[in-house]
Amino acid sequence: MPLFGPPNVAQLEAKRDVQGLIKALAYKDSSVRVAAADALGPLRDSIAVRPLTALLRDDNVEVRRAAVRALAARGGGLVIEPLIAALEDRDPGVRSTAASAVYRRLMTDPDQEARRDTAAALGRIRAADAVEPLIRAINDADESVRLASIRSLGAIGDVAAVGPLVIVLAHEQARARATGRSSLAVERAAGQALDALCDEQAIDCLKAVMGHDDSEVREIAVKRLAHMGTPAVADSLAASLDDPDPVIRRTSARGLSEIHWQPPSDQVGAKYWAALRDWRRCAACGPTAIPLLSAAFPKVDSLEQSEIIAALIAVGWEPTEADAMAAHFCVAKGDWAKCVEIGEPAVDVLDGVLRSARKWRDRVHAAVALKALGQEEVFGFGRVDLVDQALTVFEGEGTEEEKRAALQAFAVEEHLIAGSKQRLEWCECGYPSMKVVKDNERQPIPDLLGVEKLSSSAPQYFCPSCDRRQPIAA
Ligand SMILES: [Zn+2]
Repeated sequence: MPLFGPPNVAQLEAKRDVQGLIKALAYKDSSVRVAAADALGPLRDSIAVRPLTALLRDDNVEVRRAAVRALAARGGGLVIEPLIAALEDRDPGVRSTAASAVYRRLMTDPDQEARRDTAAALGRIRAADAVEPLIRAINDADESVRLASIRSLGAIGDVAAVGPLVIVLAHEQARARATGRSSLAVERAAGQALDALCDEQAIDCLKAVMGHDDSEVREIAVKRLAHMGTPAVADSLAASLDDPDPVIRRTSARGLSEIHWQPPSDQVGAKYWAALRDWRRCAACGPTAIPLLSAAFPKVDSLEQSEIIAALIAVGWEPTEADAMAAHFCVAKGDWAKCVEIGEPAVDVLDGVLRSARKWRDRVHAAVALKALGQEEVFGFGRVDLVDQALTVFEGEGTEEEKRAALQAFAVEEHLIAGSKQRLEWCECGYPSMKVVKDNERQPIPDLLGVEKLSSSAPQYFCPSCDRRQPIAA
């Protein structure tokens, strides 16, 4: 190096003379310092990091920018702290050079530790303009980078991160279900970041993800909205009553109920009650409830199906097709002949009545209808044809004495009792239930009664007319 002239940076660069270039960083002419810093960048020598860092305190803006460029070219963990510090330089030009060094270079550094530490450092200084690159980094291939980015987004507190965090959380949960493997740490961090971010400012962001294709995403968003417990979420939750996913509709309705929302008596109200599966109140909203009730019908158990049919009847609905809904309708109306007309779709419905109707009289009707539909085996009766005939006499015209005589004759004819040696005994309601055999001993007549047989115990008999157990306990 000549003793009195400026250092020849081009020559030093050509010789890859790192020490010479470092020395040139201290030269009094700022253009030399800039040239030396720019020359050091591509050499990526770690020895140059400390002197380049020192140059970030240079009075000259162009020198500081050159130092930032050189450090960015070096990359890796060593340059994170100086470049993060340069984000807060007093000069906007230096800050913008530093921003592109940190967000474009360090956040995509091939070294995952450099990416992770950069993400963490951005959270520490709560760098407001780091939100976008951090959001990109929550999908980083490396889990530790994802974690650091999520935590920093929570620390920075910009609601723009809410949507992306909801999506990350949903994907992690879906991955856990699909593969049994997920990152609990990522799930927890995303949950905590959302806890920090989900206040009223976040309502619009959550509303925006309510349109996402993935129902897991929508579910998390609606839960977050419902969890806020403020009237400000009412419109967003009410809009979710239209969601294709019933779980989401229900979460919305529950959230609305918790903020004491008053459902209107219109289609929105009907959707609200349908989401809560309160079919009676749904029907109270008028004919607008009919499609909701009809759509829910095939998706619920038979008990709820009966509730839906009762609600449909209340709103004036009548079946137009010979299907299971029509069969339920006929059962509810006690129109058993119509059930038989419906045919095959009525079989399951009638079988349900036969097994669980509270009144044995309905079970008899169902059993007779099932026989008419060609079902050989009917549950709960020895001879439902005989029960039906006995009930027809019992419920028919005539005095009590005439009916008793007719039933006695019928019992003899059907060999239910042994001629004149035996006689019928009557239930409290007057229906024939027992026979008196020799020595005044009484026995139930199974073929005239409803039978309930649990595997471990003796069969129990019930009067098909009044449901009393036979024999009546003394
Ligand atoms: Zn009775």
